[in-house]
Amino acid sequence: MDKTERPAISVVAPCFNEEGVLPEFLRRVGAVLDGLPGTAEIVLVDDGSSDGTWRMMTEAAARDSRVTAVRLMRNHGHQLALTAGLSICRGERILIIDADLQDPPELLPDMMALMDGADGGGEADVVYGQRRRREGESLFKRGTAAAFYRLIDRLTEVEIPCDTGDFRLINRRVLDLLLAMPERHRFIRGMVAWIGGRQVPLVYDRKARVAGESKYPLKRMLRFAIDAITGFSVLPLMASMTIGWIMAAVGFAFFVYSILGWLLDDTMPGWASLMAAIGLLAGMQFLMLGVIGAYLGRLYDQSKGRPLFMIRDIVGGGR
Ligand code: UDP
Ligand code: MG
Repeated sequence: MDKTERPAISVVAPCFNEEGVLPEFLRRVGAVLDGLPGTAEIVLVDDGSSDGTWRMMTEAAARDSRVTAVRLMRNHGHQLALTAGLSICRGERILIIDADLQDPPELLPDMMALMDGADGGGEADVVYGQRRRREGESLFKRGTAAAFYRLIDRLTEVEIPCDTGDFRLINRRVLDLLLAMPERHRFIRGMVAWIGGRQVPLVYDRKARVAGESKYPLKRMLRFAIDAITGFSVLPLMASMTIGWIMAAVGFAFFVYSILGWLLDDTMPGWASLMAAIGLLAGMQFLMLGVIGAYLGRLYDQSKGRPLFMIRDIVGGGR
């Protein structure tokens, strides 16, 4: 393949200590790509593995000219490893997939057809896998995942589809927009949803891992959830505004009550003035915190440096 020519499809997979699954992954992805028309590439990103993952990747690259192996300096985490792979891949369409085969690569032909517009809705920008069932995952993992997706839905303004991971096929237009977002704390499925365009689901059953274990222990899951919420919502920052209004109302009621008590002369000396001052001050403080939160939220939004608008097509006018 010519260096300047784009492959029709890139498969991008981050790998962290995946020596147990890599051979099977490459075999299955290779078979799927063999069955598709056009050229293809596989970009594997070694996210600072300490097992034989990197050696396997380089061997695969030597064996199969479609494979590109990328090694990061250290472990950067799933989302950044994926971003590294996405920035290097050259395909017209890009399949994002985990190396553990929980998401079957055999769905790629269906995803390609959907992207071509097999559902009659015209060409799609994104075909995302939506999980109907999750096999081989603990009740705890399924429960926390369900709660997580619903919470995200409540808190954020973008519609991030429920029960989707990063398993999806995206086109070059969406990928370029995604890579144009410089934010450090990346919640890629949310960012793709935010980009918009025509995004269609492909429902599937999520399998158990082929080998190895989940690299998302509870602590990482929590951090991921926090990235998702703070990346797409400034509501928590503004919460003090709501608390402030309530506190201010309560404070004012206290103020009236203590003044009345003082007028009716059934209080201890000093009580009324103290209570009135505390109530009012607490309310004012929370309100001002809310105001600061509102500005900070705007500053934060600005600092994310996302594009102001994203043009999908321009037709006519000599352009
Ligand atoms: N992964 C990675 N870096 C990490 C953690 C995970 O590149 O620090 C990769 C991992 O090898 C896998 C994908 O991200 O290909 C998803 O991880 P995992 O399967 O452990 O997550 P789960 O499916 O349990 O949510
Ligand atoms: Mg997995």
